[in-house]
Amino acid sequence: MENRFFVLQRCVLSLVVLVSSVATAQTGKEAGDAERSAAGLPYRPSLDVSAMDKSIDPCVDFYQYSCAGWKKANPIPPDKTSWGRYAQLYEDNLVLLRTILEHAAAAKNRDAVDQKIGDYYASCMDEAAVNRKGVRAIQPELDAIAALKSVHDLAPLAARLQMEDVRGELLFGSGSIQDPDNSEMQIANVDQGGLGLPDRDYYTRDDAKSQENRERYVLHMQKVFSLLGDSPELAKKNADAVMRMEMALAKASQTVTERRDPYKLKHKMTSAELAKLAPRFDWDAYWKALKPPAFQIVNVMPPDFVKQMNASLASEQLENWKNYFRFHVANIHAEYLSDDFSKEQFEFYQKYLRGAQEQQPRWKRCVQFVDHQLGEALGQAYVRQVFSPELKASTLKIVEEIEKAMELRINQLDWMSPTTKQQALIKLHSIRNKIGYPDKWRDYSSVEITVDNFAGNVRNAIVFEARRQLNKIGKPVDHGEWDITPPTVDAYYNPQMNDINFPAGVLQPPLYDAKMDDAPNYGDTGGTIGHELTHAFDDEGSQFDAKGNLKNWWTEEDQKKFEERTKCVDDQYSQYIAVDDIHVNGKLTLGENVADLGGEILAYLAWKDVNKDRQLEPKDGLTPEQRFFVGFAQWDCANDRPEMLRELAITNPHSPAKYRINGVVVNMPEFQEAFSCKAGQPMVNAKVCKVW
Ligand SMILES: [Zn+2]
Repeated sequence: MENRFFVLQRCVLSLVVLVSSVATAQTGKEAGDAERSAAGLPYRPSLDVSAMDKSIDPCVDFYQYSCAGWKKANPIPPDKTSWGRYAQLYEDNLVLLRTILEHAAAAKNRDAVDQKIGDYYASCMDEAAVNRKGVRAIQPELDAIAALKSVHDLAPLAARLQMEDVRGELLFGSGSIQDPDNSEMQIANVDQGGLGLPDRDYYTRDDAKSQENRERYVLHMQKVFSLLGDSPELAKKNADAVMRMEMALAKASQTVTERRDPYKLKHKMTSAELAKLAPRFDWDAYWKALKPPAFQIVNVMPPDFVKQMNASLASEQLENWKNYFRFHVANIHAEYLSDDFSKEQFEFYQKYLRGAQEQQPRWKRCVQFVDHQLGEALGQAYVRQVFSPELKASTLKIVEEIEKAMELRINQLDWMSPTTKQQALIKLHSIRNKIGYPDKWRDYSSVEITVDNFAGNVRNAIVFEARRQLNKIGKPVDHGEWDITPPTVDAYYNPQMNDINFPAGVLQPPLYDAKMDDAPNYGDTGGTIGHELTHAFDDEGSQFDAKGNLKNWWTEEDQKKFEERTKCVDDQYSQYIAVDDIHVNGKLTLGENVADLGGEILAYLAWKDVNKDRQLEPKDGLTPEQRFFVGFAQWDCANDRPEMLRELAITNPHSPAKYRINGVVVNMPEFQEAFSCKAGQPMVNAKVCKVW
């Protein structure tokens, strides 16, 4: 089952997970305790002079000036597809989480939470048992597919298999979303899916590399069919059929850029109307098998996709559908299966498509499975170790300073009318700040976890989450919920919740560094907070009102002026080359680029305001203003494999690292002043873009 958020804007990387919590975790801790536990992570300073290369002119290439030392000293590890300061911190987290899990696995007299995460981890680490079980781990699913009698009977089978599908590969996805017109309620939702390649564009682009990708994907499918026992001839025939079926679905799918338009995703209808869109799919049997709470209205994000699904049901034979499901069930579960499956998964997705050289060691994979599937259980111990009440208080203070700066900026805007300003301020003041971890942890007590059944644990945890999402239909929205786990090194703004979410994982050095002066902290974490706040007012977020409803609050005139300003950003980034001959997609990345620019402007304003009565001293040969900007740039010191850059350019709403830095400073006179850059130099835009 796909757990899709209507529109969710993740900020930095795409490490997707799940979280929640009881506020008792932090009480009664003493300062000394917090100091020791924070030492659970290695210390990396938020401004690292050795990461710079001062021989480079900052006015020519500020990203290289700030990060060339880091890039040289930090080649991409063989099991990674990219490597940066965020990834480094996440990797440090994995080491810490491993210790927590090993302890939970071995401890006597465990509490309920330690039993779940400890036994899950231990069952995953028992590689010999996983290998002995082999493909039998998914035998129940394969048997159900084999028993399919007709294309008409496919709907209840799809419902059952989708409950175990975290990748959205099984034909389509369904679940719950916040009602776009009433953000207090959850409604039923149907979305596109059904593809094994990373995006529909992988099927529709006709350049040589895309053609090669498709040929290699067919070979991957052949290998998976062989592992399922098919002869080479049959495996080839089946792979070709699945490719043809996916091609038809891909062509009818919405593009990532289209999906940034919330109105293109809103098609509310009755279930009878949905049944009319795709009459060949037995929706009654589908809902009966899925058992969601009763509902009147379902949102169908991609009506054209659903129509194509109907056409495919007519044109493809039963055998082809069985093979389609066989392949995808194996593909979805491959990473949890025996080595033969998981290695093939690695070879195609991580090595061929993304450029990794080695598979991650098993312990890393197991730690991440726990984080993804029981994240709010594991997160409790993590938070106890790394996130003291003092840290929560100091980061919340920066959030408040940045919000104050945003209020000031809105009032200062010379292009916006007082009417729209008033609405913008109402929206700003309604934003919920969620810092560190949820107030109420998710309760996993109903998830059965045993030490000797990894396949069963995976199934139970995934179905638990799918059921939890489904059961939200018709219920009020829980505003305390988080979409990522506490150890996640990332942050997001959700326009329907109108909240910003900063997990404990992203509030650690080298990103937020309590030992460091304000300047780099504001440049880095202050900028990230400003980035998330600005998402509330980017080209997408600005279409939602203070309550999170899809409702226009702009005057026509102001709307026009806003679009002129965002077009400046679109044009600027569209000129950049992501990799080889692939340009940055200015429309896909527009919201992130607007947020990067707005975030840094706000952070600078807030930092200046906080220190207005203080005389700041130079340090490490850098003025305070220079430290602010180097701190900013160093959040994203990174190396990426070209394969990964290609995938990100097609699918990811964020620009490549160097443009997330250089693309911002070229628009900031404060930067040019700090480094005495002159007009005509590369880091000085002739036409300055400024939105917020
Ligand atoms: Zn963002």
